[in-house]
Amino acid sequence: MGLGGSVRNTPEGVKIEIYGPGGSVDSFLELLVSQCPPLGHIQSVSIVSDHEKTEGKPGPFSILESEDGGESLVVIPPDIATCGDCLREMKDPGNRRFRYPFINCTNCGPRFTIIRGLPYDRPMTTMEAFPMCGDCHREYFDHGDRRFHAQPTACEVCGPSLSLLDASGKVLLSGEEALDGCVASLARGEIAAVKGLGGFHVACLADDAPLARLRSRKRRPHKPLALMVKDMKMAERIIRLSPSSRLMLNSPRRPIVVCPKRTESIVSELVAPGHDSIGIMLPYTPLHHLMLEKIPVLVMTSANMSDAPIVSDNKEALDSLGGIVDIFLTHNRDIFMKIDDSVIAPAGKRPIMLRRGRGFVPHPVMIKRKMPQILAAGAEMKSTFAITRDKMIFVSQYLGDLKQMDTAVYYEKTLRHFISLFGFRPGLMAIDMHPSYPCADIARKVIGEPEEVLEVQHHHAHMAACMAEHNSFDPAIGIIMDGTGLGTDRKTWGGEFLVGDPISFVRAGHFREAPLPGGDRSVMEPWRFALGLLADAFGKEKAFPLAEGFWPNRRDLFDAVAAAMELAPLTTSCGRLFDAVSALLGIRDAVSYDGQAAMELESIAMGAKETAPFDIIREDDMLLLDWRPAIRWIAEEGILLGQQKASAAFHLGLAKTVSDIAMEISDRTGLKRAVLSGGVWQNRRFSSLVKALLKRNGMEPMVHLSLSPNDECISVGQAVIGAWHWDPGKK
Ligand code: ZN
Ligand code: ZN
Ligand code: FE
Repeated sequence: MGLGGSVRNTPEGVKIEIYGPGGSVDSFLELLVSQCPPLGHIQSVSIVSDHEKTEGKPGPFSILESEDGGESLVVIPPDIATCGDCLREMKDPGNRRFRYPFINCTNCGPRFTIIRGLPYDRPMTTMEAFPMCGDCHREYFDHGDRRFHAQPTACEVCGPSLSLLDASGKVLLSGEEALDGCVASLARGEIAAVKGLGGFHVACLADDAPLARLRSRKRRPHKPLALMVKDMKMAERIIRLSPSSRLMLNSPRRPIVVCPKRTESIVSELVAPGHDSIGIMLPYTPLHHLMLEKIPVLVMTSANMSDAPIVSDNKEALDSLGGIVDIFLTHNRDIFMKIDDSVIAPAGKRPIMLRRGRGFVPHPVMIKRKMPQILAAGAEMKSTFAITRDKMIFVSQYLGDLKQMDTAVYYEKTLRHFISLFGFRPGLMAIDMHPSYPCADIARKVIGEPEEVLEVQHHHAHMAACMAEHNSFDPAIGIIMDGTGLGTDRKTWGGEFLVGDPISFVRAGHFREAPLPGGDRSVMEPWRFALGLLADAFGKEKAFPLAEGFWPNRRDLFDAVAAAMELAPLTTSCGRLFDAVSALLGIRDAVSYDGQAAMELESIAMGAKETAPFDIIREDDMLLLDWRPAIRWIAEEGILLGQQKASAAFHLGLAKTVSDIAMEISDRTGLKRAVLSGGVWQNRRFSSLVKALLKRNGMEPMVHLSLSPNDECISVGQAVIGAWHWDPGKK
């Protein structure tokens, strides 16, 4: 445009100085926003004009070295799937990157996973180990080139390369031959570990024999495994695609998209046994594209042992996956920050996030008011942390279950990374009320003892997290349908109707309390909780003979479980109720992964003529959802209708009752807006039923947008509640 000046990366963002005639400067500012490159995301532009300096001084325009220090306001980009231009080059025999498995450019490739620190320049990434060759160097400094200042750029000559290792770590093949060797081994039905962007996948054919072997070696009998398919056409032979699931599958974030299975599927039933849907993703690295060219469908599941974090380091992979895989297809570009694939499920127009990771992190949640700097430590089972700065809430990727030692290490490393990357110095900390969640201790280890600590009630945090996503903090009704979280009365809450805002809340209603015998054990064996519900609904004398009919081989344990129930903590959990109904209907009385019973209950539901009955009991100001009539109905009538209809009737009955309670609270309070959070909202059938009922009755349901409704969102809610607590003046 004939303008002079300079541009540089600074910790506060991009700083551009422009000299030239007024009109050109104006149109520059316009084009800056309107022609922002594909991965560019301009949060705001602030303009400082200095006429003395700018007038009549068109000159050279230069790109200056990045500036260090100060408080960093920049946003680190997430990892992005290989772009169309790179794919074309990779398939072009005349291109110097023909079939190069690490091709990338300014518009695509690894980012968050390879960045060690700021400013985001090559020496601060794991690409530091690969000095650019002459050709790459020329492109990197050429304004007109697509790889101008592309930090991870590389080619065959200077960049990372592949190796194929056997289970003992011996190098078998390298380069293109390694790829061919891996493909041949997979085609023979062997199991491979393949290094991707955020960690290793375990890959095999989607056929019975390799899957059976993989499941037994991984000791994972039922948990659904994700598939990677060559293209949309291939996806369509396995699942049914809606317009919105197509968009999600194809997006540069490339999540795993969970879609309904086709009845005549080309893949083994062992991919997702007992489920009516399958999680599928498209290739997102050049290496994936090259592999899928040869084998159009592969099982690609996160490489980890029994729910530990994903394996990302070459040595770690050899040590921990040796017993699972036959070969390793790996490379020498290190993954600095491990991260799992994101998982999303289309539900009407609005997808439900099931796991937030690669492609989304570290994009912040933006709200409209400034917050003090707070570290929010999150929850335990689906742990994340969040840190506030200005109007942004930076939330970590899904980190996993903190009861696992390895997850605690991962949590700590990721927290240290965020703190140093963004230059955070949080003096305030928000944590769950639960005294034994380990995240608060890990956080203290990293940031030291904070000036102030705020304990936040779990379901209040759920509510505030959903409010933050909608940037709407006025008082609302919180319909929090969750697993479990500690309540203000020290009981275990989980099916909660709250009224409040980020400052405070009251409990307006909840599910009827029931004893949760054996704590975590009853999570893995839902029949135990179900026995308690039967005893409550029928009385012990009638419950035991009924239970014997349901679970004859557990008879010997009934007395012990009943005795444990006398001492068991009480819970109002909604998630456990779904599990128990699954156990009563004979769908799943013991599970091999968290959420299995409820997910299979949802999967099997079909038809909706019947409605399971529930009661609403009014105790002073409290509305109690009484599930006993539903338990009686299921045990006596529902079971005779068959699992499909009984499950559908349970979903419908509960949805009606939940929305009725919300309506009654709305009548009492005048509030129309309902905030839906908690892990149960991952259930698409239940979620769409309740949303429709609320809307029909003039309510305004708000669901999570880019965060998961499960405990991954807790840290965001804690952060918001902390911000309002420490800075209430702006309420
Ligand atoms: Zn590209
Ligand atoms: Zn090169
Ligand atoms: Fe929760």
